[in-house]
Amino acid sequence: MLTAAAVGAELTLQDQPNLPVTPEQAAADAARCEAEGASVYHLHVRDEEGRPTMSVERFREVSDAIAASSNLIVQFTTGGALGDREEERIAPLALAPEMATLTPGSVNLGDGVFTNPPPLVRRLYERMGEAGVRPEFEVFEAGMIAAAERLAGGAGHHLHFDLVLGAPGAMPAWPDAPGFLAAHLPEGATWSATGVGRAFKPVAAAAIEAGGHVRTGLEDVLHVGPGEKATSNPQLVAIVAAMAESAGRRIVEPDEARKLLGLSSPGRR
Ligand code: ZN
Repeated sequence: MLTAAAVGAELTLQDQPNLPVTPEQAAADAARCEAEGASVYHLHVRDEEGRPTMSVERFREVSDAIAASSNLIVQFTTGGALGDREEERIAPLALAPEMATLTPGSVNLGDGVFTNPPPLVRRLYERMGEAGVRPEFEVFEAGMIAAAERLAGGAGHHLHFDLVLGAPGAMPAWPDAPGFLAAHLPEGATWSATGVGRAFKPVAAAAIEAGGHVRTGLEDVLHVGPGEKATSNPQLVAIVAAMAESAGRRIVEPDEARKLLGLSSPGRR
């Protein structure tokens, strides 16, 4: 499974002019990502000026546009941008996307703090349960695996994790990190890994080798090589798809990803 983390909340249009921010741009980007092998589209939304927003109406517009142009599993962020209020982070779950991210602990990111106190984590998880939204646990530190297990271990639904490596202030992209962390996931869980910044190719390679799935996209990657800026989400998805295929791994389409993730939604087609 390949996840396209297409937009994020930190990157500006000045840094990355090809960031898909309008519903039309997101729809076109999603279709191209699917064509290159993505099955999941991790979604943040921006306002008309490109600023990050947790507007429910904007999530509705953009996710409807993506659903009309692709069969991708749409996965909303609940992290938002650093400093977003709790109510803003919870609100878009009312739209009942197939998936949403859930970070089961707090972590420094750069000079800021990504704040996820246990009461908020429980609220987000309960809200997802009520709306039929499958969480993807975003693991920035090893202890977050245990926190996710405490939260959802007995819940009886499939558990899926994303191991985030190389974010400044959080777990480094040590070569043995994906294998080490994956070995401590609950029985039967699936996982992807995300290499932030220059870690993107080594982490993708390690995840492919260790039997995991991979997330990449403009949210996570500014440069594809020294001095060479990434041009688009489909470009990044295609790079990882080629790495996976040359390592003998098969890329799955969205409906097969739904089966791997235990999602009941049949998707669009
Ligand atoms: Zn995100």
